[in-house]
Amino acid sequence: MRNLKHNTYIYFLMLFVLFPVCSQDKEIELPQKFLRLNILSKYSLEKINIRDVKGKLYFNDLSISLKKNFDIQLRKINNRLLLKYDGKEYSSEHLILEADEIFTINYTTENASGERNYSGRLEIFIFDDRLQLVLQTDIEHYVKNTAWAESKNILENSELFSSNEEKFNFTRAMEISVRSWVFSNLKRHSEIDADLCDLTHCMFYPGIIKFQSGDRSPAEVMVHEGKIISSYFHSSCGGVLSGPEVFWEKHFPYSYFRKGEDRFQKFSKLQCEKSPHNRWESHVSEKELMRIFNLSKIENIELIRKQNRIHRIYFPGSNLNLAFSEFSTRMGKDLGWNVIKSNLFDVKKTQRGYIFYGRGLGHGVGLCQWGSAGMASESYDYREILEFYFPGIDIAVGTYK
Ligand SMILES: [Zn+2]
Ligand SMILES: [Zn+2]
Repeated sequence: MRNLKHNTYIYFLMLFVLFPVCSQDKEIELPQKFLRLNILSKYSLEKINIRDVKGKLYFNDLSISLKKNFDIQLRKINNRLLLKYDGKEYSSEHLILEADEIFTINYTTENASGERNYSGRLEIFIFDDRLQLVLQTDIEHYVKNTAWAESKNILENSELFSSNEEKFNFTRAMEISVRSWVFSNLKRHSEIDADLCDLTHCMFYPGIIKFQSGDRSPAEVMVHEGKIISSYFHSSCGGVLSGPEVFWEKHFPYSYFRKGEDRFQKFSKLQCEKSPHNRWESHVSEKELMRIFNLSKIENIELIRKQNRIHRIYFPGSNLNLAFSEFSTRMGKDLGWNVIKSNLFDVKKTQRGYIFYGRGLGHGVGLCQWGSAGMASESYDYREILEFYFPGIDIAVGTYK
């Protein structure tokens, strides 16, 4: 009798505990299944070769069935596309390639050459006096390959994770961040009818490098007040997280970014301490700074902080007071992007110039990748990781139309 009562009590308890958990699994409809990407946008392309492509090519009211092992050679001649295929030449303004399988694009410019693999439907036309390539590709392929490319150095670090489950939780947290960001930033390149570019302006997309077919695990996204969130992420925060308004200056009406220490509950250490960029140091001469900021003299550098990260930079004795993003762009373009790695540093004047003593890599907004890896390696699951970096969000299962 005692046991029965005890069991009944446990069943009731389970009902109360389980019911809210089940009812929290929200669903959200995702507006599109394919992403339109401005690819190879870094290069001013004048010619490409498309290799190994099986499928169909459409132009000038013609359609050609493509055979594998035959290359398509494309070149910009004035304002038209010159196409060579199977010993014949054609001229057109606009091409559409519908590939049945993964294909390879070879590109050559004056300073660069390389190849990338893609899948989907490719449109080619002339825009801004160069070849413009807009790829329509499966979002799940994009999410998996981008999340992998953005975390390659973490996933390939053999000392970080001690089980596949830990790796899975880190990877899943990254994929959900990438997917959520994509759905809250569609149509960012509407000038060419594309959603995103393949550069860090949006997110770096290297084409298909790892995942040839998207596995159909649930397409989870983070939501806040019924909307998919703009889930920024960065490499490592150096221990201090901030809202987006610190780095980008403009007002963001979102409350779901963690501010303060990157330290979960009882962690004795900062979570991203294992990042190779946890501490950095850069020397910049006074001459270099004078050139970059067009100043005849530099008395000192004053750091204006907000939420414990640098918000603006002021040069006393001049009228120059810059938003951090402007300072970092000017430094990066002149000296390379590895000199000022983050907006978390101190600066010291020396006889010959300035030493920047910094922590972390990136803007410190949203998910800290090295911190997430730290949490996953302490057995926290991807939900706990995301709920830490984005307080107040829900994770919903997205359904494609
Ligand atoms: Zn972009
Ligand atoms: Zn961190």
